[in-house]
Amino acid sequence: MKDHTENVRTVFEKAPFAVCAFDRSGTVVYINKVLESNMDPSTMPFVGKSLYELIHTFLVDDRLEKNLKRLIETNKPFNIVVETLSSPKVKASGFINITGYKVDSLYVLIGDFMSGGVARESRYRTLIEDAPDAILIMNHGFITFANQAFVDIMQVPITEILGRSLFDFVDEQGREALSPLRRKTARKFFTQVTVNTKTGQRVVEGSFQFIEDRPGTSLAMLRDVTEKVLLQKRLMRQNQDLAAINTISKTLSSSVDLVEVLQKTLEQVLQIMNIEMGFIHLLDERKNVLRCVVSHGITDDILESLREIRVGDGIAGRVAAGGKPIIIENASMDPRLHSITLRQKGLQSYASIPIQSRTRLMGVMNIGSFGQRRISPEDERLLITIGVHMGAVIENIELFQEVSRTTEELRDALDLIRQRNEELRQLVSTVSHDLKNPIVAINGFCERFMKTAANKLSPKELQYVEAIRESGRHMEEFVSNLLTLSAVENLKLKKEEFSTRDVLDDLLKDLSPLIDATQGRVIVERDLPTIKADRLRVTQVFTNLISNALKYAHPDRPPMVEVGHQLQGNQHIFSVKDNGIGIPEEHHRSIFDIFYRASDNHVEGTGIGLSIVKKALSVMGGDIWVKSQPGKGSTFYFTIPKE
Ligand code: ADP
Repeated sequence: MKDHTENVRTVFEKAPFAVCAFDRSGTVVYINKVLESNMDPSTMPFVGKSLYELIHTFLVDDRLEKNLKRLIETNKPFNIVVETLSSPKVKASGFINITGYKVDSLYVLIGDFMSGGVARESRYRTLIEDAPDAILIMNHGFITFANQAFVDIMQVPITEILGRSLFDFVDEQGREALSPLRRKTARKFFTQVTVNTKTGQRVVEGSFQFIEDRPGTSLAMLRDVTEKVLLQKRLMRQNQDLAAINTISKTLSSSVDLVEVLQKTLEQVLQIMNIEMGFIHLLDERKNVLRCVVSHGITDDILESLREIRVGDGIAGRVAAGGKPIIIENASMDPRLHSITLRQKGLQSYASIPIQSRTRLMGVMNIGSFGQRRISPEDERLLITIGVHMGAVIENIELFQEVSRTTEELRDALDLIRQRNEELRQLVSTVSHDLKNPIVAINGFCERFMKTAANKLSPKELQYVEAIRESGRHMEEFVSNLLTLSAVENLKLKKEEFSTRDVLDDLLKDLSPLIDATQGRVIVERDLPTIKADRLRVTQVFTNLISNALKYAHPDRPPMVEVGHQLQGNQHIFSVKDNGIGIPEEHHRSIFDIFYRASDNHVEGTGIGLSIVKKALSVMGGDIWVKSQPGKGSTFYFTIPKE
């Protein structure tokens, strides 16, 4: 018993509030200085007296007595606010916040004077008790009242809270934050502290306020914000991770040089993660090995040992084989780490992360720290995301390189085709030029021969000579058309202003034998414009289109050709319309190709006319197309720019 009294004394001797301890019989065994100095000396000594007697000398109501009895019978702690009698025996009168609970074999009463304000609040005691926020009343930090919400946070019985200092429950930082509580008065303040509870650390925050007329007494309203703080931390981490991914994404797309991109990205990852060394392996699928392409913060001898790793070997090899990251917390002890050199250099933590595209593994990123830096699960998540980004980018760069290669090959092929085309054009031009004179000569001699020797030849012989003459004429037309085509392509463009009406009048005169032979009619719109273009080429366009319109006449009707014009924006649109055999849709594009002949018609031709037209127009910046209904007729439209 003596020991227990001593224990109480050591705990409460210097307490800033009144303390009194008594035994099971209600006999007082100890009072502290604060209580002694608040009582009239005539009531002394307390020790040895019955507490029940004493109570009646200075208290108004009998609730304290009832609570004391119950405490002794049931060990149930209590906390009440009682009012003292205005008696000369009590120096300070007013409201006292009294807490009673069992300590060892003794019972302890803690009494703390309260201001009128708090006393009034005592009427709302149930409200305070049931408040969802923790409410504490403290004297210089020593807790003289705590509601259920605070007990719930601390997860210990109220007896382990009352009489203790709030400073005992917090860490160094918390003690710093709560330091104003040690003073007599201070401004109201708001703070957040971490408290050690029975089951771990919780974060509470709230306001601390001093009670005006009770120096040293403060009231705190606290709320458990552990979840909120955790969430905030998680959000902050997520924000940081997003920013990191953003930075890395920018670096990843900064170039199409794979090694440059990987080197920069690795350096950035190490910087963001605050880790010293790293290297990246790319997978050679054919040989099933990983090859180190970039590194940072490692010496040449280590690099040499990591240059090539078989899939399945070591940590990187296992990551490549399994596609899952490997994190090593204690590298010096982990048998999976093969590199003795790395271990000798004091590697602490290590992470090996797959670099994966949507479809396949591209490589492995390895990072490690020689210091105390640990790789947390959050770090691991970030690294995995970065690995996926890297995978997509590497795949894109590879695709880009492949496309570039193909484009280059195509460009080479196109150059070759252009070169061959030019050679061919030259050949055609030279050959037709060289052929023209001999053909003209053959035709001339053939005609003369027919005139002089016709009556000496048998009908069969005459037929043969006529066939020679016919073929000769066709060849002459063919060669002449080829020469025209070549001229249309190569002759210098000569722009002049001329009346299209004049051009048509002239060329219709030239075509009159054909018009007469086909019994056709050509109607030209009256208001044909004056245009600025190459007169020779325009003449070639009209000549070819009108002679075709006459040539491809319908067997049932004589050809009727109409030439029209309209101005649309900056373009002259001319049309040549006929009522001939028409052109099936599938030929509409090809008829402008050289040597292409659409129909199995019996009309003679070379298949060069429309290519001359197309070429002539394209040299002048114009275009041509056809609309046609087989059996009814065709209309060719062509454009010539106004300027
Ligand atoms: P060619 O008349 O010597 O065969 P073109 O290049 O002038 O060569 O014409 C190509 C083909 O287009 C012709 O063979 C013919 O089938 C078709 N074609 C051209 N103009 C007409 C037309 N006005 N009506 C019907 N078919 C035409």
